[in-house]
Amino acid sequence: MRRISKRSIIYSFSRENPPVETLQPGETVLAETWDAFGGKYFGDKERPVQFDPDRSNPATGPIEIAGAAPGMGLAVEILNVVPIGPGYLRHGAIEKLLPLEAGRAQFSEDIFIPLRPHIGVIGVAPAEGEIGCMYPGLHGGNMDTNDICAGSTLVLPVQVEGALLAMGDIHGRMADGESSGMGIELCAEVTLRVSLVASPLHAGPYILRGDAFILIASAETLDDAAWSAVEQAALLIAARKGVSYDEARLLISTMGELRISQIVNPLKTVRVELPKSLVLA
Ligand code: CA
Ligand code: CA
Repeated sequence: MRRISKRSIIYSFSRENPPVETLQPGETVLAETWDAFGGKYFGDKERPVQFDPDRSNPATGPIEIAGAAPGMGLAVEILNVVPIGPGYLRHGAIEKLLPLEAGRAQFSEDIFIPLRPHIGVIGVAPAEGEIGCMYPGLHGGNMDTNDICAGSTLVLPVQVEGALLAMGDIHGRMADGESSGMGIELCAEVTLRVSLVASPLHAGPYILRGDAFILIASAETLDDAAWSAVEQAALLIAARKGVSYDEARLLISTMGELRISQIVNPLKTVRVELPKSLVLA
């Protein structure tokens, strides 16, 4: 299995970033990731020289996937997310370093937070320009979505040759909403298997998880993100099931769970979770 060092980081997704590794479809990789602040609060002696104190959310990579071409989907099967302590939390004047032990983070003498790790930032290069790692969007990025966790397959729309995948900002645990702007921020080791999908189901990021299909949408406001998720899901169901748009809206209104991913990033993120049977044959 390939191992990608956390010495190779980017702060924005761009086709200009040279790949640090090339994977064949079907290959598994272990990526070391920094916390969102590049080890600033941990006194890590191995902080990369290229760490930028003015930017956050360094993402490990980018990784080129051989054969990936615009129009394809990059399927990222998340095999394992192993948090490396301590975890960091901050709100207002309160700042905490949380030791990790036995699957939980110690918040105080008698309060423990059970871990439920997920990947906050994961994306591919956009067709043009660069997108900072603080932003979510069609390319993925800072989606802060709890379902991007072990056991899920995230599908991202390939927009440049090789896709240029990168990831970071792992949270030991984050509640839906991320209302204080952070989960338990920590370093991690993430194990992924990458493959290519010739015809992705949707032009933006989506997740396959158990019996669920989860469509992710981001926009300037939470309302816009929510309606975007609903409308895109309705168009998808109508196309896949041969029902009308209005019938698809009824199916979402009855079976599509609308959930907040995060309300704190420059664009807000919402997801709609559907039974897989509504979009897959
Ligand atoms: Ca984040
Ligand atoms: Ca974070």
